[in-house]
Amino acid sequence: MKQLTQKMISWFDSHALEVDEGIEEKVDWFRALPFVVMHLSPLLIYFCGFSWTALIVCLLSYLVRMFAITGFYHRYFSHKTFKTSRFVHTLFAFLGSSSTQRGPLWWASHHRRHHSSSDTERDVHSPVMKSFLFSHMGWFLTKKHFPTEEKHVRDWMKYPELVFINRFDLLSPFLFVLFLYGLGEMFQFLFPQLMTSGGQFVVWGFFVSTVILYHATFTINSLAHRWGTRTFETKDDSRNNRFLAILTLGEGWHNNHHHYPNSVRQGFYKGEWDPTYWILRLMKAFGLVSDMKERVPEKPVPAGNTNADVADA
Ligand SMILES: [Zn+2]
Ligand SMILES: [Zn+2]
Repeated sequence: MKQLTQKMISWFDSHALEVDEGIEEKVDWFRALPFVVMHLSPLLIYFCGFSWTALIVCLLSYLVRMFAITGFYHRYFSHKTFKTSRFVHTLFAFLGSSSTQRGPLWWASHHRRHHSSSDTERDVHSPVMKSFLFSHMGWFLTKKHFPTEEKHVRDWMKYPELVFINRFDLLSPFLFVLFLYGLGEMFQFLFPQLMTSGGQFVVWGFFVSTVILYHATFTINSLAHRWGTRTFETKDDSRNNRFLAILTLGEGWHNNHHHYPNSVRQGFYKGEWDPTYWILRLMKAFGLVSDMKERVPEKPVPAGNTNADVADA
């Protein structure tokens, strides 16, 4: 009984569960329950219906939160490829957390480990070493990979606000749902001709959008190590993939990124669209971010010359 209560608390408090290192990599179905329920939640469309406004809210919610993940969870908290103020990093840590992909420190700690051990035994989500499904959405449902690997994110642990957001990672999605509901109700009152409602804003703007956001993000761990081209001969099996880059605002240039993760850019060359980088450039123009590491390696010549000298883009 005590264990069950502890597990339930762990849905809301990430520190509630103690896990020992040697534990097996098996899916913890009890803890995974909310994740399973999330996949059923789009069925609520049956009750709230459709409107074009709700669809636009769904898309905007996807784009803003995808950027919080790619620009901040990934390029900032995991790789420190630019600098920003404490206010901005807290804001995006909170916004990223509304994607229900755990907190920024949990995310960054596992991602740093991925880079240091890509496609080896130690990689927690390698589709080369483990099954495709496990790399896509099995690994984070295991008890073993539930805790934040604090040793990989010591640099961020000194910020109590980040530790708090990371610990109570459901607070942000909860407030986001309340915000969407209030906004939708306001739209219904002010613009009844749009035929929308608070319920529609929540179902489309949170539930539908979050499920799509899950799988778009997860493709970078699974598909982006299997499907696409390789510009660089990296030690792992990372790929560049235009389709995934569009879905994830530029993260699909994953082979580029594995070769040179120190750049704020992931699309290195002409035609490699990288909207996350464009948005960060815009933020820089407004003084919100600074010290962007924009240098990228020279493109290797097709003859197999793997010249990896760093040059200005
Ligand atoms: Zn990375
Ligand atoms: Zn990777």
